[in-house]
Amino acid sequence: LRGVVALDGPSGTGKSTVARRLASAVHARYLDTGAMYRAVTLAVLRAGVDPEDATRVAEVAAAARLAVGTDPQAPTVRLDGEDVAAEIRGPEATRAVSAVSAVPAVRELLVAEQRRIIAEMLDAGHGVVVEGRDIGTVVAPDAPLKVFLTASAETRAHRRSRQDAEDGRVATMEATMADVQRRDRLDSTRAVSPLRPADDAVELDTTELDITGVLDALLAMVDR
Ligand code: C5P
Repeated sequence: LRGVVALDGPSGTGKSTVARRLASAVHARYLDTGAMYRAVTLAVLRAGVDPEDATRVAEVAAAARLAVGTDPQAPTVRLDGEDVAAEIRGPEATRAVSAVSAVPAVRELLVAEQRRIIAEMLDAGHGVVVEGRDIGTVVAPDAPLKVFLTASAETRAHRRSRQDAEDGRVATMEATMADVQRRDRLDSTRAVSPLRPADDAVELDTTELDITGVLDALLAMVDR
């Protein structure tokens, strides 16, 4: 693969899993932008800052040293040198991430960093699969392929809860469903870069598909 594949959509669509598999299959790099918003959120929580306090959140974001690895087989996330890959998926960061990612200064900072990472990989001759909420609309609007994944709310809550169980986190189905819906509502209604498909994105409903089905559909769209 050459160039960028932009993969957007709400949580629980299987986005992360298929993004990584797709990148592996086409020998591309992989950028998980959600992990970057989550890592900043963790920094905010550790600093004892209220996620709703935009001014202080922006200060924490500016001071945080983030490092994301782009190997699809082993993506890594470091905050100030520490591996935080597991902690950023925990319930505290998950609860606070939508508030933090709604802060315009945080988005400005991370979008710039994401564009820098993408440019670096393209310069090195790699293709890159980028997953998030605003990749097709904001981060990489010139990407030749933009896909917007959807799935019914119920399916997304089921997938999220299966992922949680695999990672050893416990939550009731009701709590997971409520969290998925709350986060999507916040992400879709925020003032800056709300979650929405780019005008030229291909929408792919994954409700009735398993991971292999989604991967096959994507592989058919990718110009290798
Ligand atoms: O994809 P993931 O669930 O890890 O994303 C966590 C949160 O980060 C999302 O709910 C959203 O608030 C935020 N996010 C974003 N823009 C992106 C990626 C993630 O606002 N490009």
